[in-house]
Amino acid sequence: MRLLIKNGYMIDPAQGVNTGKNLLIEDGRVVGLMSHSDPTPEGAEVIDATGLIVAPGFIDVHVHLREPGHEYKETIASGAAAAVAGGFSTVCTMPNTNPVNDSAAVTRFVIEQAERANLADVLPIGAITKNSGGTELAEMGEMKDAGIVAVSDDGHAVPTAGMMRRAMEYARGFDLPLIDHCEDKSLARGGVMHEGHWSLVLGLRGMPAAAEEVDAIRDCALAELTGARVHLAHVSTRGTVEAVRRAKEKGLAVTCEAAPHHWTLTDAAVAGERGSSPTAREGAVPYDTNTKMSPPLRSRDHIEAILEGLRDGTIDAIASDHAPHHADEKELEFDQAPFGIIGLETSVGLAMDLVKQGVISLERLVELCATNPARILKLEDRGALRPGARADITILDTEKSWTFDVSRSKSKSRNTPFDKRNLTGLAVATIVAGRIVFLHPDFSRLTASRASAARR
Ligand SMILES: [Zn+2]
Ligand SMILES: [Zn+2]
Repeated sequence: MRLLIKNGYMIDPAQGVNTGKNLLIEDGRVVGLMSHSDPTPEGAEVIDATGLIVAPGFIDVHVHLREPGHEYKETIASGAAAAVAGGFSTVCTMPNTNPVNDSAAVTRFVIEQAERANLADVLPIGAITKNSGGTELAEMGEMKDAGIVAVSDDGHAVPTAGMMRRAMEYARGFDLPLIDHCEDKSLARGGVMHEGHWSLVLGLRGMPAAAEEVDAIRDCALAELTGARVHLAHVSTRGTVEAVRRAKEKGLAVTCEAAPHHWTLTDAAVAGERGSSPTAREGAVPYDTNTKMSPPLRSRDHIEAILEGLRDGTIDAIASDHAPHHADEKELEFDQAPFGIIGLETSVGLAMDLVKQGVISLERLVELCATNPARILKLEDRGALRPGARADITILDTEKSWTFDVSRSKSKSRNTPFDKRNLTGLAVATIVAGRIVFLHPDFSRLTASRASAARR
């Protein structure tokens, strides 16, 4: 099957492409780029992408799809549906399921469920330690053979430097990146929000920025010691960004990601404050458990550091940390409610906000969402629209104003602080291995005959 994406503006930083191009796909692979004036190849179905951006398929390296074990929050199928609706052709799912993905059997189960769903490609991440318990290393080699792309005990930090050293050495032996949830428990001490002015005002137990930073600094030192590839998850503080910047200056194999909520909202959002957030939040109320996540929303100065890191390249990737929870769980008292929010369908819109504000360029956005995630995980046939690569494509409308309505989310969960938020720019089509798996309703109207022809 041949598919031509016609008259779009292509941004592919890996190839240095930033110009109007047609893209030809055949049998799930990229054939090549053509100029707008080239004739349509025989037998090709056509998507008209006039006025739209055509980019390599976006990859979210950090999501929680909850299956096996917590299917009432999310299944691999519902998570994959939310992924493609948000513009992601590939998502990497964390191992903190029940059972934990610390074995080839669970890894294979995740891959089989994803194949059954047949939407976004779901790449499993295996646990660092058995049951993510922090005491005994998991069988990384066995899981790698079964299909994991990285290891992480996300949700928990590896508790001791000695254990982390062994984990890095082991992961390095299998050439697996280690994705690091940085949180020193002895400093976080059961905190439920950022320690600072607002935790004092609200009477909530805080966790200081240092709880994240001591682990980040420790693990950068261990990356130097072991030579392992270390990727810091959801960096949220100035000190963590600075630690990564120093590690990169030294030439270490350290990378990191930031989540949209960590640059969009400050800890004032926990108090329901609208004005003190970088962008106003409609309908905000104090003690909203949809402002509770780990790491927590931070203060303004930390946000500035995240924005600097996104701008100067210290931060490599944007990842949602999509963490679905059932409404009954999030309706508990702030102290009792679980950490985390859903994010797959708002991530691209919130990243586009940065482009609109002039913080980053559109090209940089594509780097953060596609080029670099593929590089970090060594996904060699993704992240670039080279001839022969998987035809994973995200098509963006940078102009369209829209309002996120969580009641229409594809996720099984509704825990988001971004319901009813107005955004500009979104993914209007997602193509996975040459197959159109998501078309925005307005986009399909725009190109009705052609798009429906392409889907047949
Ligand atoms: Zn985490
Ligand atoms: Zn996470």
